[in-house]
Amino acid sequence: ASIFAAVEMAPRDPILGLNEAFAADTRAEKVNLGVGVYYDDNGKIPLLAAVRAAEKARLEAMPPRGYQPIEGLGAYNSAVQNLLFGKDSALASSGQVVTVEALGGTGALKVGADYLKRLLPGATVYISDPSWENHRALFESAGFPVENYPYYDAATRGVDFAGMKAKLDSLQPGSVIVLHACCHNPTGADLSDAQWDEVVAVCRNRGLIPFLDMAYQGFADGIAADAVAVRAFSASGLQFFVSSSFSKSFSLYGERVGALSIVTASKEEAGRVLSQVKRVVRTNYSNPPTHGGAVVAAVLNSPELRQMWEDELAGMRERIRAMRTGLVEQLKAEGVAQDFSFVIKQRGMFSYTGLTAAQVEKLKADFGIYAVSTGRICLAALNSKNIGYVAKAIAQVVK
Ligand code: PLP
Repeated sequence: ASIFAAVEMAPRDPILGLNEAFAADTRAEKVNLGVGVYYDDNGKIPLLAAVRAAEKARLEAMPPRGYQPIEGLGAYNSAVQNLLFGKDSALASSGQVVTVEALGGTGALKVGADYLKRLLPGATVYISDPSWENHRALFESAGFPVENYPYYDAATRGVDFAGMKAKLDSLQPGSVIVLHACCHNPTGADLSDAQWDEVVAVCRNRGLIPFLDMAYQGFADGIAADAVAVRAFSASGLQFFVSSSFSKSFSLYGERVGALSIVTASKEEAGRVLSQVKRVVRTNYSNPPTHGGAVVAAVLNSPELRQMWEDELAGMRERIRAMRTGLVEQLKAEGVAQDFSFVIKQRGMFSYTGLTAAQVEKLKADFGIYAVSTGRICLAALNSKNIGYVAKAIAQVVK
């Protein structure tokens, strides 16, 4: 018999299943709000002008394609630190921070998880309830037990901060806490600056290991404002992990551009930690690909391209905000009595709308509008052409 004869079919990824169903839908007016991608007002994934300029220059220079260092491109890694910690960060210039280029935010989380398993083999990992669906799978596949801490409060459509804090306060020292640095996926509910300070204090008091996941820097309030959690931990003197993703902020999804940063206690410590992280990378994929990191580094390290990118990023951020306000206004105009103003307060690409699984099903069946069964919608999939249709449809299903 074949060695694969008894292999079971793995469960389907629910969001990819949604995309397949959407693709097969023949209705012209269909809308896919289930995606985790930023679309422009024409419903297209943008190719940013700053990226295009950097790619053009790179194509013209025709650099040879040698191997990268295991940790990736130095100019890229320092640019990542600059975004996370700020331009004149004393922490970054101290040499205490290890940054390695990684294959997207997912790759950064995986390298971080594998390294943490070697460092703290007995730890438990805690993720928010709910969280990005891959967090649990990623840390479990690195060998950790994964549990939840309270996060979303359906009553306020915000954060159950008291519940979250009480849980963190009860954890074993050495527990790993995965935190969404901004633009929480899937809920859109973020902590306030003051709450971040409290989380830092709990991590310090309980000896917890924070792992910040930064997948949407620049999508809420701006590059520096969205780094508030990173900056609060930086100021604390604690050790922590950060994964960065440029999939959304550079619209470079398929290029797999991300980074893992680890803040250690000293430059000397950073050298030893880097040597261990490099072993993790070496035995997984040896070294990262050249193109995406080179493009992001070229943009971030050129004053002109960086300005261009910041303007384009602001444009994406403002478009999402306009879709949030627009949806709330149009729902009101459609005569929806329920207060949807929380959608304006939520941040980033997503909103937990409170739509039930049955209402989501009805949106699909009656209107060809696809959303995640939890009621999560992607605001960046709305545009000036489809927002009216979506508002009318939601009004119908919530009435
Ligand atoms: N972390 C969160 C919270 C995300 O939402 C995502 C992407 O959807 C990622 C990480 C992964 O990013 P990447 O596509 O760069 O691997």
